[in-house]
Amino acid sequence: MKITDARIFVGGPGKNYVTLKIVTDQGIYGLGDATLNNRETLPAAYLRDYLVPNLIGMDPRRSEDIWQFFYRGAYFRGGPIAMAAIGAVDMALWDIKGKLAGLPLYDLFGGKSRDGALVYAHATGADLQALMDSVARYVAQGYKAVRVQCGIPGMPTAGYGVADKETGDGDFITDFSGIRPKVEIWDTDRYMRYMPDALMAVRERFGPELKILHDVHHRLTPREAASFAKSVEPVGLYWLEDPTPAEDQGALRLLRQHSTVPVAIGEVFNSIWQCNRLIEEELIDFIRVAVTYAGGITHAKRIVDLAGLHNVRTGFHGAPSHSPVSMAAQAHLNAWAPNFGIQEYLVLGTPACDALFPSAHRMEGGLFHVSDAPGLGIDFDEREAERYSYSPGSHPVVRLEDGTMWNY
Ligand SMILES: [Mg+2]
Repeated sequence: MKITDARIFVGGPGKNYVTLKIVTDQGIYGLGDATLNNRETLPAAYLRDYLVPNLIGMDPRRSEDIWQFFYRGAYFRGGPIAMAAIGAVDMALWDIKGKLAGLPLYDLFGGKSRDGALVYAHATGADLQALMDSVARYVAQGYKAVRVQCGIPGMPTAGYGVADKETGDGDFITDFSGIRPKVEIWDTDRYMRYMPDALMAVRERFGPELKILHDVHHRLTPREAASFAKSVEPVGLYWLEDPTPAEDQGALRLLRQHSTVPVAIGEVFNSIWQCNRLIEEELIDFIRVAVTYAGGITHAKRIVDLAGLHNVRTGFHGAPSHSPVSMAAQAHLNAWAPNFGIQEYLVLGTPACDALFPSAHRMEGGLFHVSDAPGLGIDFDEREAERYSYSPGSHPVVRLEDGTMWNY
């Protein structure tokens, strides 16, 4: 069995999804996702210029060796661009493997550990009342877990993940007017004074059953993060996400000494070597990598297994930062993983998205139900893809009020 062709598509409804289709001499094909938000052309070029020319003629069943070939074969290893490209190849090879076996991928991992996988939605409001309305809408739809982000009184701009006052849009944060980013202004003191009470107000309104998550988006110093974690303890958060910049892994020690709030981190990591210390020292409770830029199913599964040894559960980064192809790959891992925690889930089921990526995966009652079709259980409509092309865009950059650059 040989790979005869591999094609790359960039574009999608409201996103620059990077989709890889690997074709074999037996007519079976596989799909992969190399989407890297606001840098989408780079994994596409890495695939086109370096990986695809090597793939032609390879045996697609040898997914482990092909992963090692592309990872170890490069002297300069890792990084989100290369790992997203390798990840797309790996997903597509697993898709082919499942189709050859006639089995959904979760069966190749060891079978289902659960029927539906818990997901969380993104609730957001420019002020507390708007946030409450947003949470209420998700609860009414059956969601059992929501991430809550809220505008801060007196903050010059909205803050991370907060809906724009005019458009109400808080999830699709890419600005497609060009690659020069807008500037947001951040004030840590205002955030730390206001947010604990806002989170507690959500808890009081919606009661003890709702799982409440909150994303700090790397904005705090280690001491600030420890202090903030202590102050939100009465809320009973499901998790506190990215309290400190991800590069400074020792930062979490101080937080751990002062708080029992569960910590989730890792959506920007692209290899096991960026999170093995956090996992082995048990400084986190949830690992947030994504199959996309953490090297595909082969590598993400190694991270999940290491995490399982240390009672760290999964909380994969979610769409639409990745395409429905990655969501499908994660759905299979979520169905299998004995240490599954939760899956980030942003609205994907739009008619345009479903037309481009048809599948029988479905969201119901706050749970994601994986398709039983062989492989990833998702398809890609190339004719539909002709409607889309790459649109340059950027997410905002963040400065303090005095102009100092801060963490986005
Ligand atoms: Mg996040």
